[in-house]
Amino acid sequence: MQIAARTVASFHYTLTNDAGEVLDSSRGREPLTYLHGAGNIVPGLEKAMAGRGAGDAFQVRVVPEEGYGAHHPQLVQDVPRAAFAGVDTIEPGMQFTARSPEGVQHVTVTRVTADTVTVDGNHPLAGEHLNFAIEVTEVRAASDEEVAHGHVHGPGDHHH
Ligand code: ZN
Repeated sequence: MQIAARTVASFHYTLTNDAGEVLDSSRGREPLTYLHGAGNIVPGLEKAMAGRGAGDAFQVRVVPEEGYGAHHPQLVQDVPRAAFAGVDTIEPGMQFTARSPEGVQHVTVTRVTADTVTVDGNHPLAGEHLNFAIEVTEVRAASDEEVAHGHVHGPGDHHH
């Protein structure tokens, strides 16, 4: 069976950036399982998965626009240190959830000075090319229920 709409595929992946650093990998864990055509994985990878079958191994380089998006400089902001009242230690790399008129925003602290904290609302991988090494382990037909829900149901986790 080939990966197409209304199929569920499982695959192992190793994700590296252009510097060759491994950012994430499923090796040593269960493979990732997703419903194809439902936007459950980044668009560039989903596109590259189409037509593959169990046992296929390949590499794909996903551009930022088909990955986690471009890096938007306007999402990087300097916030007064006083806005973090009640937080004892603030260090680069810490993540916060901020409520704004536009809704909930996840931000990462990138710089801390005595008076200001620089936060970045971009996805940590925004602007990065994503280099995936993929091995497809299984492809099966999706159930009607999975297609209706837009996601995969695993054994024992149908709790909604
Ligand atoms: Zn469901």
